[in-house]
Amino acid sequence: MNKYIERVLADTRAKNANEPEFLQTVEEVLLSVEPLIEAHPEYEEAALLERMVEPERAISFRVTWEDDNHQWHVNRGYRVQYNAALGPYKGGLRFASNVNLSIIKFLGFEQIFKDALTCLPIGGCKGGSDFSPIGRSDREVMRFCQAFMTELARHIGGDIDSPAGDVGVGGREIGYLYGQYRRIKGVSDMGALTGKDVKTGGSILRPEATGYGAVYYLVEALKHDGESIEGKRIAISGYGNVGWGIMKKAADLGAKVTYFAGPDGYIHDPDGVNTEEKLNYILEMRAKDPMHCQPYAEKFGCEFVPGTKCWGVKDVDILMPAATQNDVNMEWAEKIAASGVKYYIEVANMPTTNDALAFLKEQKHMVVAPSKAVNACGVSVSQMEMAQNAARIYWSAEEVDAKMQATMKNIYAASVEAAERYGLGYDLVAGANIAGFQKVADAMMAQGIF
Ligand code: GLU
Repeated sequence: MNKYIERVLADTRAKNANEPEFLQTVEEVLLSVEPLIEAHPEYEEAALLERMVEPERAISFRVTWEDDNHQWHVNRGYRVQYNAALGPYKGGLRFASNVNLSIIKFLGFEQIFKDALTCLPIGGCKGGSDFSPIGRSDREVMRFCQAFMTELARHIGGDIDSPAGDVGVGGREIGYLYGQYRRIKGVSDMGALTGKDVKTGGSILRPEATGYGAVYYLVEALKHDGESIEGKRIAISGYGNVGWGIMKKAADLGAKVTYFAGPDGYIHDPDGVNTEEKLNYILEMRAKDPMHCQPYAEKFGCEFVPGTKCWGVKDVDILMPAATQNDVNMEWAEKIAASGVKYYIEVANMPTTNDALAFLKEQKHMVVAPSKAVNACGVSVSQMEMAQNAARIYWSAEEVDAKMQATMKNIYAASVEAAERYGLGYDLVAGANIAGFQKVADAMMAQGIF
């Protein structure tokens, strides 16, 4: 291993020993950009990697809120403003009970390179809280969002930092957060939050963007092999915004999601989730109870397998993990490799453990694509929302969709090109890391050392 990378990794491990998710992503990224570091000895002199792994700012704050029974709760809020070399900090907020500093730092670090890959002027950032909206009343969610924003407002703004959604933060939460931000600041700084409702400054297609973009990326990967998406069978995990978008766009393009997994097990629908009735039912089912997908099987008379994941099934062409981090470990990866499936397209942030990812990449019959490229359309449309807000206009669905397709084509092509340039062959994982990293590195070098 390159000595400089080795030293920075050792220092990062020593300094952040209790942050496993953060160390996982730093290792994954730094090891895959080795050829780039070798080609640029000036990076070491400028302490580029040491600066890259250290957030510009990590804010942790208290959030006190009252539940419906007049009980007070104290949660922890975070915003890790990682790197603004390319533009205002941009990245989502995650509200989930397992959120901690390690998870927010891992997501923030990934976001730097994802945002760079979009070629739009946005820096990397992430935030959130260990509060989960699941099982909370609407009023409780509103009070939590207001308390969270009361503290966060001083750190954000359209030219500073623009949060958006992620797990546990959808249109409802963004609405409450933006309302409180506007109340505190007294200005219509609309670009300070994205994922807003279309009636109040949101961009059309933002909720669908991540899932649609993932399918646009998949189309490019299939095209590379002379294949079309038509008729392809897809297995996914997760059926939130992202999973739903994949189901919808796959159906639009003549493919079908035949397996999807939730927290309680997985559904096998050989006909695919490809009718309006089924797609609408998923939204309804999720709104009622986001922890169970079993009702889908009862409603549409198909198979439900409880307590396990659908990785390793043989009758699909493509796998798209779209739920959460470390969904696929070595045990699942072995089943996936043995199943003969060709395409492993990551969608959720870091859905694969590092050993499983390396193992899948080694499989000669497989094509592996990384989430930071595949899911970048969500944040791209967030940036388009900021652009519309700044210009005080709304773009049409056609305009946004055309830009989404162009963005995903560009990300795919830039990844292929970067891997080839460094003699790595057709390596979409290393290619995405190198292409994103190079953009941030160039900007940091140009802006001086600080
Ligand atoms: N949380 C999303 C992501 O992982 C979206 C971020 C945004 O729209 O700013 O990219």
